[in-house]
Parts: sequence; structure tokens; C-alpha cells
Amino acid sequence: MRQSKFFMPTLKEAPADAVAESHKLMLRGGYIRQVTAGVYSYLPLGFRVLRKAENIMEDEMEKINVPEMMMPHFLPATLWQESGRYKKYGAEMFKLKDRHGRESLLGPTHEETFTEIIAKNLKSYKQMPIALYQIQTKFRDENRPRFGLLRGREFVMLDAYSFAATREQLDEQFDDEKRAFENVYRRCGVTVHPVIADSGTMGGKNSTEFQAPAAIGEDTIATNESGTYAANLEMAKSIDTFKQDPEDAKELTKVSTPGCDTIEKLAKFLDVPKTRIVKGILYIADDQKVLVLIRGDKQINEVKLRHLLDADEMREATASELKEITGSEKGGVGPVNADWADKIVADDTVKNLYNVVVGAGETDYQFENANLDRDFKVDEFADIRTANEGEPDPVDHEPLKFTTSIEVGHIFKLGTYYTKTMGADFLDNNGKAKPVIMGSYGIGVTRMLSAVVEQHLTNHGGIAWPKEIAPFSIHLIQMKMNNDEQTQLAEKLEKELSAKYDVLYDDRKERPGVKFNDADLVGAPVRITIGRKAADGIVEVKRPNDDKATEISVDQLNDYLT
Ligand code: ATP
Ligand code: MG
Ligand code: MG
Ligand code: MG
Repeated sequence: MRQSKFFMPTLKEAPADAVAESHKLMLRGGYIRQVTAGVYSYLPLGFRVLRKAENIMEDEMEKINVPEMMMPHFLPATLWQESGRYKKYGAEMFKLKDRHGRESLLGPTHEETFTEIIAKNLKSYKQMPIALYQIQTKFRDENRPRFGLLRGREFVMLDAYSFAATREQLDEQFDDEKRAFENVYRRCGVTVHPVIADSGTMGGKNSTEFQAPAAIGEDTIATNESGTYAANLEMAKSIDTFKQDPEDAKELTKVSTPGCDTIEKLAKFLDVPKTRIVKGILYIADDQKVLVLIRGDKQINEVKLRHLLDADEMREATASELKEITGSEKGGVGPVNADWADKIVADDTVKNLYNVVVGAGETDYQFENANLDRDFKVDEFADIRTANEGEPDPVDHEPLKFTTSIEVGHIFKLGTYYTKTMGADFLDNNGKAKPVIMGSYGIGVTRMLSAVVEQHLTNHGGIAWPKEIAPFSIHLIQMKMNNDEQTQLAEKLEKELSAKYDVLYDDRKERPGVKFNDADLVGAPVRITIGRKAADGIVEVKRPNDDKATEISVDQLNDYLT
């Protein structure tokens, strides 16, 4: 591609309202332009990166045998009324009416749409397990669209949906998707932590988020030092949702903690041992049965008390949770190992566990407010009892570290919520009708691009795009356009290298300074500069994070590139 023909309107300065580095760079580099709040055009440079990310996703979905398709953006309200989410989804839904007054919406996600297709077209266990996906624009009327592509009102999502006849099949599909997602993030160069997450309006209890640590992240994740534990503080924030539901509001009491700006003061105020407060997150189960959650790193913003649900409700919820994970009717927790012990927050007696984290492979599942004697078979906790024996305070977490991060994906074991409410049944091998068991899996494709940039800023104020996702893999820069030797060499290299790589050839009649500044914004993994020594077959090469360019002879280029 010739840069003289490429549309890349760069800016010297980012607009003052751009805060996130990724937002600034994407604007300055001419990757994107805002059309209205939270709605962007993808200019050629941004579109190239988007397409590359999508190609990687298509490749990884193909590997796990999940076919791509496309659903409409425009959906009838009736579909969402069936699932009960039309009201529940709230103000984030873009609603509209057609000329006949029929209520409609722009899809913020597509569980209902996929469930309906399955309800009408899948009949037998013989057709399962099966999964489908699309990469498509979603619409959410976010309260505060911001940070460029990080929180848009129109954004691109990969959403996959799985349909299984048995729990085992769901587990396998979930694992496949999780692996595929991890491959996508790795190939796109995003470092992620799978974390225990809140399921929000999606329903379903088992969900894992992929969180990409970044300076601008809107979420905060807690990780331990050995890397065996990661959770989203949103688990604490989810208490807010109790407030929105009048039924649940009864369960919630907000208390102010005047003057509690240190852990010590808070412990004193709450009259609990200081050791129960683990760097800002506190789970307490005292005689009054309350759960206290605190946000922030030592800076205590608010404290909320939520009374435990009554015992019957808890027992039922926990048993089904366990069943989802273990597939066992009695809801055992599977092999209990020593790792378990340090992931448990218990009260003094260990008999009344209020927060249990089950390590199931790479993902942890957290059961809030579980109770040992009531919800689990005591025998299976022998190891834990031993681990905690004699300790004055069983809150023996490794210290947690807090990092701001970006939710770049979210996967759910939905179970039968949508299929039951929408009548998606299949006939099992005894000819009996059963609801299909569902999973859903989403990657925020455009948000992920911002995460990539956040994690790959250079010291020179540019981007160092990871190889597979870079808009161009080689940036060829000719210093002087009126120098025949340089032109000859540049055109020769352009031709040769284009056979194997995506090459952007800066053939503009611009000053070198302008070209180099723009090159920092293009962020190609390799920059080749053709200048004074072109006649001797010598060029300069530089990677985005190199401080200086290096001279090499053209013969050495192949070695340098591989
Ligand atoms: P958030 O907590 O950031 O609002 P969410 O939990 O509402 O996200 P999901 O419903 O889990 O989002 O959607 C799947 C994925 O879509 C998210 O993990 C995220 O990467 C992406 N996503 C969600 N909302 C937006 C948005 N407004 N702009 C860009 N990407 C988004
Ligand atoms: Mg949201
Ligand atoms: Mg979220
Ligand atoms: Mg989410």
C-alpha cells in the first residue's frame, strides 16, 4: 500500500477530552473518528486492525468447529418479552417503534435471537452439542460512553452460543470456548486474567471474565501473588443490584463509616479483628450474619451490609450451583486439596463458611454466603479443617493485589434459563422432551483493540502493535522522494516484501520528521528506512520499542525479519 494513497489523517495533538492513551493514539493516528458520543467510524488504519482481529477470531472458532453466521441488529420487542429481559435490561437498550407502532430494539446482545433459532430448528439430542457465533455490531445506550472504543454505544462483539443436551457437553463446550478465547487474546497480544465475575442481567451463575490489566481500566481486579486467584471487585459492586430490586432492597443496609480512612480505624469501628480485612476487601460473617464489602485500596469509599438470604433460599441456590460445576446430584465439591484452604474466607469456627471459592481447573467459582454444614458435606472438608486448625483467625489469604483492568470478554454457563422461558426443547435418547442447556461467550472486539494499545504503548509516544494484529507488518520509509537511488531501492523492496508481508510504503513528499512521527502512530513491528546509503544497499531498521535505528545491508534484511 502506498501511503500517498492511504487515508490516514494524523493529528499533532489529541483533542483535550480524550483521556485514555489508547483513545488519544487512535485519534492522532487516524484510526478512528467519533461521529456522535460513543459511536465511531473506523478509518482505513483502524479497520485493518479490526479485520485482523476478526480473522484471528474466525480462525480460532473454526478450530473448535463453531460455524459463523449473522443475526439481524434490528429485533422485535416480543423476542425479549418472551425471555423477560425487555424490562429487566433497562435504559441501556435502544428502543424504537416502526411505522405501525410495533416496539423494536437494536440488539445489545443476542441470547434470545439464537435461542429462538434453536427452539424452531433443533429437535433431537443427535444434533447436539452444537455452537454458533457471529461477529457483529451491538448497541447499548451506555450512560457514560467514553475512552474511545473502550465504552461505546455502538461496538463490535464476537458472540458465541452453545447448545448442549447434557451438563458434560456444556462443560466441554465452555472449556473449548475458553481455550479459543485465550488463543485469541494471546495472538492479539493481550495479557488477560480469567476471573470470577458477576453475571449481570445475563442470568446464569457461572461466569468467567477475561480481564486485561491496564492503566485506564474501568474494573478493578484482585489477584494473589502466586497467580492462583483472580476476582473482579464487581462481585462486590453487584450488591448495588440488590438496591434496584425492591424485593431485595430489604436485604441491604447501607452504613456510613465516618472517619474510617484506614483499615485499623475501620476494624475498630466495625469491632472486628483487623486481620479480617484483606487489603480493602473484607468479608465478615459475624453473629448478625452480615457480609461487608469494601471497595478501593485502603481508601474506604463505602461499606454496605447485606443480610444473608434465609437458609432455604441459600440451600437451593448453592446446590444447583454445585451441580452445574460438578455435575453431581448431591453437589459435592470434588477433590479437596490443600490449595483450597487458602482460598477460603471463613468465620472463626470454620463451621460457618460464608464465602467459598472452589478451584476448578484454571477458573475459580465463588459461592457467596455458602455455609459449610448446611451446603456442603462436612467430610469433604477434612483438609480445610486441618488447614485452619488452631489458627486464631482463619482469614489466611495471600495478600491481594489490586489492578485496574479492562473486561475484554465474558463467558457464561447459562444453563436452561433462556431455553425454558422460550421453549427450546429437544428430545433425549428416550424420546423425552428436555430444555436445551446453553452457554454464551462474548469478546468485545473493538474494546479489545483499545486494550491492545493500552498494553503496548511505546516510550516514544507511539504504539507497538503485536505482529498478528498490526495494521501493517512492515513500514517502508523513503527519506527523499526526489532521489532516484532511494526510489529504486524502495520500489524493489516494496515489491519483494509485499509477497510475504503487509507493507506500507511511505512515498509521500514529506519531511522525514513528519514521516517518523506518523510511523510511530502506525506502529508496524518493523520500520525500514531508505535514506542516504541506498546506493550502497544499506538501510536502517527499527522496531517500535528500539531507541535507535540500526544500519544493515539489504542482504541481511531477510534474517532480520525472520
Ligand atoms: P461492562 O461491564 O464493561 O459494561 P458488560 O459486562 O456489560 O461490560 P457483556 O454483556 O459481558 O458486557 O458483553 C460482552 C463483552 O462485550 C464485554 O466483556 C466487553 O468486552 C464488551 N462490551 C460490553 N459493553 C461494551 C461497550 N459499551 N463498548 C465496547 N465493548 C463492550
Ligand atoms: Mg455493561
Ligand atoms: Mg461487566
Ligand atoms: Mg460482562
